[in-house]
Amino acid sequence: MAIRLSKYVERLNDSATLAVAEKARRLRAAGVDVVAFGAGEPDFDTPQHIKDAAVKALAAGDTKYTNPVSGKTALREAICDYTRKYGGVDYKPEQVCVAAGGKDALHLGFAAVLDPGDEVVLPVPYWVSFPEHVKMAGATPVYVQGDRQRGGKIAPPQLAAAITPRTRVFVINSPSNPTGAAYSREEMLEFARVLRDTQVLVFSDEIYHRLAFAEPVVTSFAALPGMYERTVTFNSASKTYAMTGWRIGWACGPELIIRGMSRITSQTTSGATSFVQTALVAALNGDQSCVEEMRQAYRRRCDVMHGGLSRLRGFSCPKPDGAYYCFPDVSKTFASLGVVDASGFAEAVLERAHVALVPGNAFGWDTHVRLSFATSEGQIEEGLRRLGKLFGG
Ligand code: GLU
Repeated sequence: MAIRLSKYVERLNDSATLAVAEKARRLRAAGVDVVAFGAGEPDFDTPQHIKDAAVKALAAGDTKYTNPVSGKTALREAICDYTRKYGGVDYKPEQVCVAAGGKDALHLGFAAVLDPGDEVVLPVPYWVSFPEHVKMAGATPVYVQGDRQRGGKIAPPQLAAAITPRTRVFVINSPSNPTGAAYSREEMLEFARVLRDTQVLVFSDEIYHRLAFAEPVVTSFAALPGMYERTVTFNSASKTYAMTGWRIGWACGPELIIRGMSRITSQTTSGATSFVQTALVAALNGDQSCVEEMRQAYRRRCDVMHGGLSRLRGFSCPKPDGAYYCFPDVSKTFASLGVVDASGFAEAVLERAHVALVPGNAFGWDTHVRLSFATSEGQIEEGLRRLGKLFGG
């Protein structure tokens, strides 16, 4: 019989970041010495005290459904304390929904507020999954082109021009995946001024908020005057505590939206894994020196990678303000490689230099590529050496 997939699935793309990670893994398994700058995944192990909390919870029988599905009360309280401390925003536990990762939280958020015909303003370049989440809800992404000289940041008048009566959400992701660019408080205040007299919600993806290089914390959008009532803040343990595989994240925001997200959760996953929730309490309430150590390491690696990329012929790359990605424009190298876009570039570089990186097509710019520096300085130097052989400089 002929099986066919739903239109829902056919509208979607596979996640390019995960696809590159999988490609690098397969090549390595086949014995190829690949330098992997693909997935944005910390090479650090999860800090021991967090693992210990999970093991202890398991041993104590913390293996049942969690009630409510939006997260254990102790965890939602810990998230409120954490958000007050690191975001300057006050939430009640009823305003928190725990999910199976930041990506799941974002998906729930979009599903909770969007209808077909609605529009979502997305700055380009964007993180791969944003347009897909919008499409899954039957809504339409409205792309606003970022400034190439400013790490893909958009200007407030561009936001104003993109808003129509159908606009439901503006997505802001600072520091950004894929560029690492962060908006200053002043820039965010300008966005807030544009939004103040509209009915537009803000989805603020603050997953890299503690991995900003100049300041240890990025201003939370919900803390800006007048923005609390319209902002949903998304966060996760993956990057901050090197917990990608644990799959746990959360959203804080207006109770109505959080209730909508919880309702979907009650009909889908029934909530995040019980003992992982307990481990996250230990992460949020415990010693934070691990976060600062990782931030400093990323900052050093950023200098190494950005310095090296800037010396390569045909590469041009604004310096990231945070996160762990460089996003250079490599279009000047296309002719010499015999390729026409970033996908061709990524294939050629993987084949000829065994360096895995993510083509910018996945983020909306086919002239750029994303390199993650969430890997050791040794690997970064080796990758740069290989790229140097290919591109000189
Ligand atoms: N967020 C990371 C990245 O962009 C992990 C993979 C994913 O979820 O997209 O590489």
